[in-house]
Amino acid sequence: MKVTRIAYSYRLNPGKYARLEEQARRLGRVRCGVWQRYGSVAGAALSDRQVRDRWLAEGTHHTFGVLANAWKETVRDAMADIAANRAAAKVRVRRAIGRHTSDPAEQKRLFTELRAERWTADPYLARQMRRHWRRGRNRIRNQIVVRADQHNTRADARGRLWLAVPGLQQRAMVRIPLNTTVAPSGTLRLILRGGRVEIHYQIDAAAMPTSQRPCGAGAVGVDKGYTEALTDSDGGRHGTGLGALLTAESDRLKERNRRRARLRSIANSAAQRGDRAKADRIGRNNLGTVKRDRQAARHRARVRTEIFTAVHAVVDKASKVIAEDLTKTFTGRKPLGRNLNRRLAGWTKGVTAEALKNVSERRGSALVHVNAAYTSQVCHRCGSLGRRSGDRLHCTVCGVVWQADVNAAINVLQRQGDPDITLHTPHRVVKQIMQTRADRHRSRLPLPDSSLSIQQAESE
Ligand SMILES: [Zn+2]
Repeated sequence: MKVTRIAYSYRLNPGKYARLEEQARRLGRVRCGVWQRYGSVAGAALSDRQVRDRWLAEGTHHTFGVLANAWKETVRDAMADIAANRAAAKVRVRRAIGRHTSDPAEQKRLFTELRAERWTADPYLARQMRRHWRRGRNRIRNQIVVRADQHNTRADARGRLWLAVPGLQQRAMVRIPLNTTVAPSGTLRLILRGGRVEIHYQIDAAAMPTSQRPCGAGAVGVDKGYTEALTDSDGGRHGTGLGALLTAESDRLKERNRRRARLRSIANSAAQRGDRAKADRIGRNNLGTVKRDRQAARHRARVRTEIFTAVHAVVDKASKVIAEDLTKTFTGRKPLGRNLNRRLAGWTKGVTAEALKNVSERRGSALVHVNAAYTSQVCHRCGSLGRRSGDRLHCTVCGVVWQADVNAAINVLQRQGDPDITLHTPHRVVKQIMQTRADRHRSRLPLPDSSLSIQQAESE
């Protein structure tokens, strides 16, 4: 099993960063070219090597202004992205085949043609692929892929590691100081973000220290909460101390801010009276920032530990964690403003996102982001909108009361591979889809004597 490791640059000078950024920008054009020309039917049967040969024959590569190895690796990477994009469509087509024919031999033939990329020749498959495969485009302009034999790492006299990667000209390597003592190996993916270079590479999990826990085997959906960090789709609750930590901190901050405001007004009125000495004394002794910042840091550390421990507990049992994309910022909502509770909750959301990403990467489980619209409001069994009261969700159609957060986690789990609701399906459309499904479910509800329709309803 492979796991991704990330090394970071350490105090990289801005000139080098700018040079890498320029290279990544030019390689972004290479990626755009690959997506434009081979991102649809035209590229389905082609290998990255064939694309390379074509571009070499046409002379396309002269327009990029990058070294040969760099654009070739980028073509390979972009073709792999396209293949992943196509594979996602195939999941939907496979489902369609199941509905299209019940003849096992015909199903098998269609599956085989689909897998072997021979679907262009089959009218039914070609039609289905055109329907389910949305044309994508390149959005990556900050990455450089470096082949294993194109980079090297040296330690300087003080023991700092320097990673040398090819620049824009032959024999002009860019040397990047690293913040780690482990040399990155194999194919590297350099991601440039905010003046820092992230070096992503894969290692064999077998080569990792044995203290590293492997991930579990199942697929688990999670819902982010306030009282506990995460609830999973098996009903497990993790990071149950989070709510108490946040409430205590919020209460403490309110009280402290109240006291500081009072002291500040005393200092101000002293200053107005001309008592500068008193005003200065209060400012120095009572309104300082050292203790305040130390306490804030300690609180943050506690919350991080709680959340990371919770995520580890989930990954203990999951090879695949399905979650809402918590890094997404919600627009159109009121700013969090001065409301402490909401500000704290907003911050823990970011920590949870970071923990899910990092722990999954380190321990080799996959993190799948899904669209979480309405997952906390609909019944996971029938799909109709339930009535929420406190931590309960009451489905009037099924007549069942669910634990709201467990119900949400199950919905999140079910969103994975949902044929209609993708990550970017708008909220409004999700609502329509949910309503249509709930109506369909209701119309197929069993007659008292029909066991067949019960099965149908259950499988919905
Ligand atoms: Zn229901």
